[in-house]
Amino acid sequence: MSEQLQMYIDGQWVDALSGETREIVNPASGAVIAVAAEGNADDARRAIAAARTAFDEGEWSTTPAAERARLIFELARLLEAEKDEFARLEVLDSGKPLREAAGDVNDAVACFRYYAGLATKPHGQTYEVADPMQAIVVREPIGVCGQIIPWNYPLLMAAWKLAPALAAGNTVVFKPAEITPATAVKLFGLIERAGFPAGVANLVLGAGATVGHELAESDQVDKIAFTGGTATGRSIMRVAAGNMKKISLELGGKSPNIVFADADFETAVEYAMFAIFAGQGQICAAGSRLLLEESIYDRFMERLTERTRAIVVGEGLSEDTEMGPLVSEAHLRKVLDYVEIGKSEGARLVCGGNRLTEGKYAGGYFMEPTIFADTTPDMRIVREEIFGPVLVVQTFKDEAEAIRLANDTIYGLAGAVFTNNGAKAQRVARKLRAGITWINTYHPTYNEAPWGGYKQSGIGRELGTFGYEAYTEVKQINTNLQVEPLGWYRG
Ligand code: NAD
Repeated sequence: MSEQLQMYIDGQWVDALSGETREIVNPASGAVIAVAAEGNADDARRAIAAARTAFDEGEWSTTPAAERARLIFELARLLEAEKDEFARLEVLDSGKPLREAAGDVNDAVACFRYYAGLATKPHGQTYEVADPMQAIVVREPIGVCGQIIPWNYPLLMAAWKLAPALAAGNTVVFKPAEITPATAVKLFGLIERAGFPAGVANLVLGAGATVGHELAESDQVDKIAFTGGTATGRSIMRVAAGNMKKISLELGGKSPNIVFADADFETAVEYAMFAIFAGQGQICAAGSRLLLEESIYDRFMERLTERTRAIVVGEGLSEDTEMGPLVSEAHLRKVLDYVEIGKSEGARLVCGGNRLTEGKYAGGYFMEPTIFADTTPDMRIVREEIFGPVLVVQTFKDEAEAIRLANDTIYGLAGAVFTNNGAKAQRVARKLRAGITWINTYHPTYNEAPWGGYKQSGIGRELGTFGYEAYTEVKQINTNLQVEPLGWYRG
């Protein structure tokens, strides 16, 4: 299979102006699954112009919310009807196991439905101000939104970006990660079928340094929404300053998962694994630092290691697979480099650490789930985001030390606490300097609640009403209810 993937600009399917293409590869085998148009800054400018015209001269921003909602509900219906095909394609493109991809598609459908519903709910405010004045506040779309996402959740991140932006009446230029465009292209096929007006939702494929940079820099773009690495976020923020673009940044993390001695033992062990090995650890909120209370350290490590060694690594479509391949050869190398860094820093490799190449792993980007113990807070493997299936274990004596270690990071995306002491759980969750916290669980997130980070994990929030508001400008309108001269000037 070698499908041709085109861009969708102004309601038309188009190749790159340069004619360039890129091979899209299945991470489980290295086989080419599609050939995608490789756009550059010229294609981005073309898409931005289409979105600009659709916003400035089209009717989308003033289309009744109920009509925008109808189209987004229709998109959700079409996506749900093809959910199995989307899930399989996501596996082939990103490598993630089928059960995770299927969950992503369901979440994406729910996200479109949530924002379709939210579009028609009340959004303004009125104020009682000095008589005879009336003040109201309205929310209006921001304009043309550039949206850039990474490769770890190609479809779900597309839904998180497109659903609120379109519901709020913006026009968009969307860019998936260059190595995982397949499900976004298929999704834009459904956007076309649902009947969105031309130019409202545009898809550009290509690299960050060209297409992404143009979206972030262009003075024809009013807002840039980005999910990806912190270093990229910093460069986007810099170039977005040119025309004071509104920005939303969802960036990296090095999230702590704190387990107290009084936690339910087996629950905490399994969630410690799920926290870091789901998505092969390529999840921004991954629980990549396990903080264990000293008194349970030996017993916990024994069970954790035993169960981690039993994780079935394999190709995502295979039913018994529990962990898939990493997304690319280059990314696998980066993660394996961190394994070497950990060893050279003096951390103890408890299990894993190797690339898998024999038999069913040949050609793919597989590695073993990996755990490092005997770490110190200054080690690079403790401080830097590895974005792979590599867990680093730290220990603490008491609650105060747990909180101090947990917050000893430049990031602040997520964190979890496992304990059967309810008050302690709440205390610790409140002390974590992170935007997403869990008690006795790890990873669940819902369209209704805001997602985003403290510190260098980002700016702004996606999802929930926060995510909708992030795609609106706020305007106050003050009305004089008694129309007569002011009497300020005597002459
Ligand atoms: P990345 O930053 O390299 O790329 C992300 C996207 O940005 C891609 O589409 C890429 O093409 C584009 N890009 C790259 N350079 C650019 C530039 N100079 N200007 C504009 N766009 C540019 O990240 P990645 O390696 O694809 O993804 C991994 C990172 O994403 C991790 O750090 C992870 O934590 C983060 N992430 C965060 C969240 C969150 O919600 N906070 C979710 C998923 C992933």
